Amino acid sequence: MIYEKLAKVRQRITKTAQQFSRTPESVDLLAVSKTRPISDIITAFNWGQYRFGENYLQDAIPKIQFLRDYSLEWHFIGSLQSNKTRLIAEYFDWVQSLDKLKHAQRLNAQRAMYLPPLNVCIQVNISEEPQKSGVQLVELPALAEAVAALPRLRLRGLMALPTSCQNFEQQREPFRILQSAYQQLQMAGFEFDTLSMGMTNDMMAAIAEKATLVRVGRGIFGERFK
Ligand SMILES: *Cc1c(COP(=O)(O)O)cnc(C)c1O
Repeated sequence: MIYEKLAKVRQRITKTAQQFSRTPESVDLLAVSKTRPISDIITAFNWGQYRFGENYLQDAIPKIQFLRDYSLEWHFIGSLQSNKTRLIAEYFDWVQSLDKLKHAQRLNAQRAMYLPPLNVCIQVNISEEPQKSGVQLVELPALAEAVAALPRLRLRGLMALPTSCQNFEQQREPFRILQSAYQQLQMAGFEFDTLSMGMTNDMMAAIAEKATLVRVGRGIFGERFK
């Protein structure tokens, strides 16, 4: 049952936060609803969940349209392409997977004036695997500076999606690197409040390394069949 799983995930967040001397409120939960039906989203909403993440634009738009009257917050977490930016700027509240200035400029130009600025996180490629999305660490400061200057975007922080492994201490390593980059940019004057890292399998390691937002799909909705 979704509500039982959701309650368990929240308990795990609370317990892990306390274990690492953090307040449970300092860690938010993004429910990753990709491939899930609208009814699952409504169930989670009825149990107090209002932030949802989607990867596939064509799947997400009908859900967002149908759920217009619920006060939900929609995060785009999938890979960005130039031909998708217009609809993303129109339908989403957040984009967490920004890794190219070209996409940022398009989103900035396409974000309607009647909407608040689009919240964005820069996705960082911590494992530095060339085939993976995300900006390399060395290119991060320049990209952050350019994105922060765009008036229709609001740069909130960083996101990462490291290659998964099972061991807790190993899971912490890439998160520690991201957290250190986050802190360095904060010290350089960026007003960040969002460090998005950790999923069903590694959320505890991410919380140990000061994630402020964990993105959980299977832990809430069960295994994916698509
Ligand atoms: C699918 C996905 C998640 C959630 O993964 P689970 O293992 O289902 O918790 C989180 N972040 C991104 C970017 C994803 O694509």
